[in-house]
Amino acid sequence: MGPLELDALIDRVVAEETAALRESFLGGAEFAVTGMESPRQRLLHRLECTVVEPHLDRRAQWTDARRARLGADLRYRPALPTLMTREAARRLPSVRSCKVCWPNIHGRDPVPLRTLRASGLRDTHAGRILSTEAGESLGAIARVSARTGPDLFGRPADAIEVVTSSRVFAYAPTEHVYLWNLPTDAAVIERKTRLFQRLGSDLAPAG
Ligand SMILES: [Zn+2]
Repeated sequence: MGPLELDALIDRVVAEETAALRESFLGGAEFAVTGMESPRQRLLHRLECTVVEPHLDRRAQWTDARRARLGADLRYRPALPTLMTREAARRLPSVRSCKVCWPNIHGRDPVPLRTLRASGLRDTHAGRILSTEAGESLGAIARVSARTGPDLFGRPADAIEVVTSSRVFAYAPTEHVYLWNLPTDAAVIERKTRLFQRLGSDLAPAG
């Protein structure tokens, strides 16, 4: 097959795959499974997961190496995630859940946590969910500040003050604190908007 015919084949594959993704998305798909063919590798993601996003750009899948592979085997196709609705994802008999996007399809998966010392908290953590060690939310972080001054007994004491949407917490700098290791709402909204632009451009993003 000549290079022009190869280009035409790739164009057709990209168009077909993109149409199929769009159809699933417009049909209400909110989740994606990678490695669907192999029960051992199957991994469930939220559709806006950063791991899935590059796979949705079907044109970008065609690197020179993959193009060469297609030239050698016309049946070759780059891996395509399987999009599905929440109901369909719940019915999957065996699937592991992605640790990056926490699909939590059955509502029983523990929230992935990040542990750090209170002194490591910064204003850049604003919007993140402060958590107990067990994963219970203590509110979204609004502000972090270091406080220096004497304690009740006049001894010098440093504290890290964390203001969340629900309360104010004071930690010793070396104390462990826990954050939900998940993207902020703002980051998720940004990704969902990109997803709509890619797959559902006829629709306006829903809240
Ligand atoms: Zn994921």
